[in-house]
Amino acid sequence: MVVELISVGTELLLGNIVNTNAAWLAEKCAALGLSCYYQTVVGDNRDRLAATLRTGLERSDILILSGGLGPTQDDLTKETAAEVFGQPLGMDPHSLERIETFFAEKGLEMTENNKKQALVPQGAAVVDNDNGTAPGLILTKDGKRMILLPGPPNELKPMFEGSIAPFLTKLTGKEEGAVIYSKTVKICGQGESSVESRITDLEQLSNPTVAPYAKIGEVHLRVTARAADEKEARKMVKPVVKELKARFGSLVYTTEEDVTLEKSVVDLLLANNLTVSTIESCSGGLLAARLINIPGVSEVFKSGYISYSNKAKRKIAGVKKSTLAKYGAVSSQTAGEMARGAALLSKADVTLSITGIAGPEGGTAEKPVGLVYMGCYVCGTTRVKEFRFSGNRAKIRESAVSAALTMMRQCILEYYSEKTFGKKE
Ligand code: ATP
Repeated sequence: MVVELISVGTELLLGNIVNTNAAWLAEKCAALGLSCYYQTVVGDNRDRLAATLRTGLERSDILILSGGLGPTQDDLTKETAAEVFGQPLGMDPHSLERIETFFAEKGLEMTENNKKQALVPQGAAVVDNDNGTAPGLILTKDGKRMILLPGPPNELKPMFEGSIAPFLTKLTGKEEGAVIYSKTVKICGQGESSVESRITDLEQLSNPTVAPYAKIGEVHLRVTARAADEKEARKMVKPVVKELKARFGSLVYTTEEDVTLEKSVVDLLLANNLTVSTIESCSGGLLAARLINIPGVSEVFKSGYISYSNKAKRKIAGVKKSTLAKYGAVSSQTAGEMARGAALLSKADVTLSITGIAGPEGGTAEKPVGLVYMGCYVCGTTRVKEFRFSGNRAKIRESAVSAALTMMRQCILEYYSEKTFGKKE
């Protein structure tokens, strides 16, 4: 089954908004096992949109459109799709009632043009919108389909997850051997090429397939099987996931779809009843922010310090003046003292310090841009590590935070598996 994504909106063409819907939908469609060969962005222009739809229908089974379902004059996705399929618009009483209720509940006045959103092409299936006024629509003609979704991501995403994905799954399920199941093995602390060099044999497999996706500081390996039913597909995926876990050991932080690296760290802290504090220089609070993004972190998170200047490093963390003078703010000695100082001040079981040169200025031959030192204190023992990151200021800071989460995770794991923790790398 081939799908094609069409994003409608002049704002997208002008670059006023970024087409995040297309990226999000493309990933979702791939996960459902649908092939997608084309994505198009087209402005709010009836003729060009109609031509885009006609071209799309020639080469794809399903067109998924986003945007242009609003009540204003330039919202013409529905009208154009209806025209291309030759299905006249008629008032849908169910949608009209929902729109009226939506306005009444919010105490807002409903204008005449809002009624336009309840017009539905003849024979189209209506998909209720629980987060806005424009309903989604599924138009069908001669085995081809057009799926119309509202533009705002907070409306499009729940509608796709709740109604469209199950609809597409059912549709593809009717095809022989078309059930797709995937599991993602998430690896931290290894670069993409290093991970790939260890799975070249598995990358040759055709069913299940193993595909790497590189993220900052992480590599995700998606194992995907196609089979007649889900049970069979799961059975095919299982041994490959097991093999990957065996190859990468504790570098695998999860195989769960909704678990992020920071969540795995928070889970580890919770499981071991450990409190945590952070002390950051060049990352300026990004590490604390990523941890605090996780619901339930209040059980373990104590303090997040930003000690940016030398004075702050001395004042907050008690870094010695002599350390700063002899080794500099970006040094393993300072990182170690920052981690210990934060532990002393906040009385946390685990602390992580970050100090480095994010650039673009401030680098020297000896200490180049991208050089970062981190200290991780776990219940009385501190480990310090040196990192060298590349990229611009934002990339270096993000890379540092991912590496910090990985380091914290590894130090806690090693602390509990004893022996190795405490030895300086
Ligand atoms: P509305 O009822 O809000 O007018 P709509 O379905 O007509 O919804 P648009 O008017 O095309 O959608 O877009 C509304 C808003 O949704 C945009 O201003 C933008 O913030 C967001 N949006 C639209 N399309 C996209 C897209 N492809 N990617 C990300 N955001 C988008």
